[in-house]
Amino acid sequence: MTLYIVPTPIGNLEDITLRALRVLKSVKLIAAEDTRTTRFLLKHFEIDTPLTSYHEHNKLTKLDAIFAALTEGDVALVSDAGTPGINDPGYELIREAVARGVKIEPLPGASAAITALVASGLPTDGFIYLGFLPKKDKARADFLAPFVDEPRTLILYESPNRLVEALEALAQALGDRPACVAREITKLHEEFQRGLLSVIAAHYRAQPPRGEIVIIVGGAPPRVIETWDEDRVRAALEVRRAAGEPLKVAAKAVAAESGWDRRSVYALGLDN
Ligand code: SAM
Repeated sequence: MTLYIVPTPIGNLEDITLRALRVLKSVKLIAAEDTRTTRFLLKHFEIDTPLTSYHEHNKLTKLDAIFAALTEGDVALVSDAGTPGINDPGYELIREAVARGVKIEPLPGASAAITALVASGLPTDGFIYLGFLPKKDKARADFLAPFVDEPRTLILYESPNRLVEALEALAQALGDRPACVAREITKLHEEFQRGLLSVIAAHYRAQPPRGEIVIIVGGAPPRVIETWDEDRVRAALEVRRAAGEPLKVAAKAVAAESGWDRRSVYALGLDN
């Protein structure tokens, strides 16, 4: 039997796919993060498939019941909104389904992270999804430290009451970078604020936001390294050669530090 992973709309009910509706109608059971939220969605589309809860607090104890259901028929996994498993319950169930050899069929569909990213105007060729930032200052700074030199675009989820604090923390940890706050995507009050982190923070300090929010932050700009003059390169090479490093190894290390290319450093080393 098959476990279907079914994304649901992140605001606009028209964003459900035809396939999602067919699967939700045809499976034996739907495992839902919040059965009330999903019942509302199903009612709108006149679907009356039985529901069972699968949420943060029963995601481990509920596994056996869901696998028992999977021996009798197909099961669909849904969360409250968007794609299950993305900051929503799903990962443990899917991991266990893989381990047990259960067939998994994922349906493509809505996710706030990707929808915000493509509208941000920031580079989409490489990106890192970070989920929610930690709430405490120190934990937030530690969390962001590894991304100071990260050139790819960052995607974060945030709650409206912590948005300004989060934008300020991002600017402090990473520098005042281009960013985009995507709020209430696909809903009536959809809004995109694009600009430097500090400018968006000032905007929302003056006008506290409501609703659901994704923050997109541009990656680190390439580091400009100061190019050394020839004397400095020769001196650095000499130090390494005197310490016994082969010319090839020393040239590679000095090239990385000096802004010179490896061949030119090597050629200088041959002169010495
Ligand atoms: N699984 C979901 C997905 O695929 O996007 C994410 C679930 S996570 C618990 C909920 C967070 O996603 C919200 O707090 C907000 O940061 C973001 N989010 C969800 N819907 C959104 C929307 N319509 N506009 C902006 N952000 C949204």
